[in-house]
Amino acid sequence: MVRLTVKDEAGAKAIPEIDAKLKAEGLNIPLVGDFHYNGHLLLAKYPKCAETLAKYRINPGNVGYGDKHDYNFDTIIQIARANNKPVRIGVNWGSLDQDLLTEFMERNAHSTLRHPEEGEARRKDPLSFKEVIYLAMRESALRSAELAIKAGLAEDRIIISVKMSEVQDLIKVYKLVAKSCKFPLHLGLTEAGTPVQGMISSAAAMGILLQEGIGDTIRMSLTPSAGVGELADRALEVRACQELLQALELNYFKPSITSCPGCGRTSSTYFQQLAEEINSYISEQMPDWKLKYPGVEKLKIAVMGCIVNGPGESKYADIGISLPGDNEEPSAPVYIEGSLHTTLRGENISGEFKGILDNYINSKFATTLITSS
Ligand code: SF4
Repeated sequence: MVRLTVKDEAGAKAIPEIDAKLKAEGLNIPLVGDFHYNGHLLLAKYPKCAETLAKYRINPGNVGYGDKHDYNFDTIIQIARANNKPVRIGVNWGSLDQDLLTEFMERNAHSTLRHPEEGEARRKDPLSFKEVIYLAMRESALRSAELAIKAGLAEDRIIISVKMSEVQDLIKVYKLVAKSCKFPLHLGLTEAGTPVQGMISSAAAMGILLQEGIGDTIRMSLTPSAGVGELADRALEVRACQELLQALELNYFKPSITSCPGCGRTSSTYFQQLAEEINSYISEQMPDWKLKYPGVEKLKIAVMGCIVNGPGESKYADIGISLPGDNEEPSAPVYIEGSLHTTLRGENISGEFKGILDNYINSKFATTLITSS
């Protein structure tokens, strides 16, 4: 799925055109519209946009203030209902409903704000500022969900997110919300930062939540690097999420490669090149392999740098190669399912290993074609 910002009339008009162009290219990609401030106006004025989008994402902090909030929110929900579309109620701590936050701060000052796990007794000490934020975010999401249900949206058409930008905050607020409702939760560390920082922080926070069974969809919000290259690529967000889900063994997208970091025992960077080559080769082949070899995405490959851990990791993988380290015999044993398959030597180790990999995948994952006579 692809999320698109719909911020003005031009954006709303473009949605059906984008969808038509994708379909003309044979791509059936659900488009999610992200609305702030004027979603009620755009969706009402551009019914084709409302009909084309697969899901609406709205932020209850940006739907309007005072009396207008409920009216605008209801307008969006009625359109979602009429078009049978799910709605993500996306609370974000940077745009938290200020009326609600003020209400909670005042209640906290009078010690009448309680954590859901506390009893009814009045608190002696006020909650910390962060705890008030968590509770206000939870309340914003749950009140909005309740409003949507009252307006006639089915419960199974509601998704919730409560994004914050610090790892520990995200873990705490999602745990709180997960205990409070049964709605599917979309996870994401908002404004996570530049690619490396953002991927690590997002993986740390979401990894803990996913491991505890919290979260149904995920996003990594990365600030692309300026210029070109992998770190400037928007698709990196998707690849990073796939890597996270695969690392946690929650979903599989392509064969995984175990490769060592290299150290003083490696005489050259050849093993790094080989690991990269195999990685690129897998990415290139996957569209074809996915069709021809169901289950290939669970394959484990090892590309190791020397005899210390090389044979061990290679034996543990489905297929692995252990390259020669410094002062070792210039040979590269290849293991398949724990047994020595062959030993490669010479200039074409990479090409030969790819050939062995192809044959192994074909023998292991090719589906049997049943033909009728
Ligand atoms: S496998 Fe060998 S080369 Fe790779 S990190 Fe371990 S000791 Fe170093």
